[in-house]
Amino acid sequence: MPSPRPAPTCRRCGRCCRLGGPALHAADAPLVRHGRITLTQLVTLRRGEGVTDNVVGTVGPSPAELVKVRPVPGGRACLLYRDPPACAVHDASPVECRALFCDDPAALAGLYATDRLTRADLIEPGSALAELCAHHETETDLTRLAGLCRLAAGGDAAAREQVAALARFDAAMRDLLPARLGIDPDTLPFYLGRPLAQALPALAAAAVPGGLYKRRP
Ligand code: SF4
Repeated sequence: MPSPRPAPTCRRCGRCCRLGGPALHAADAPLVRHGRITLTQLVTLRRGEGVTDNVVGTVGPSPAELVKVRPVPGGRACLLYRDPPACAVHDASPVECRALFCDDPAALAGLYATDRLTRADLIEPGSALAELCAHHETETDLTRLAGLCRLAAGGDAAAREQVAALARFDAAMRDLLPARLGIDPDTLPFYLGRPLAQALPALAAAAVPGGLYKRRP
């Protein structure tokens, strides 16, 4: 009788790290609170923002907020990835990284959408910062803003003005938080998510009268 094939083991090739950083879960909160992963290394993907579901393989608006390790500037690889293959926090890597094994993703699929961290888990409740982040989230709700962008791109001038006003509000908040609360500007992608034009690419077309592609007269 042939002996059973050995269980596949991680080759530590770094491929999964080059495809992007992990979303954080409740069990990862101490990594952030103790500074192993800093807020400057995180980005918030907001509810309604286009995300890739790495288990199902689909792309679409996120049904809930999630906090991720950022990609390298202009790229896709996890910011904590070091070449040759190594992780800057290998001795305490986030739970998704420990669960992910590319030859057998069942363990990751089991925890992928459960107990995800949000900003509220990492910001002091009731603080001015928490209130300003919540205010920004409500005012620039991405699902509502996507609807306004559709109207604006269809020629609705009032919707276009609302979109422009919200883009100005977003920019003003990104000036206000460092100026009034002294927070590091590099933490803004965590506190406020990505700038609206990046979080919602439809915003660029909505801001142009008549859309990006104008008809010939
Ligand atoms: S945190 Fe470490 S193990 Fe996880 S994706 Fe980034 S580099 Fe890879």
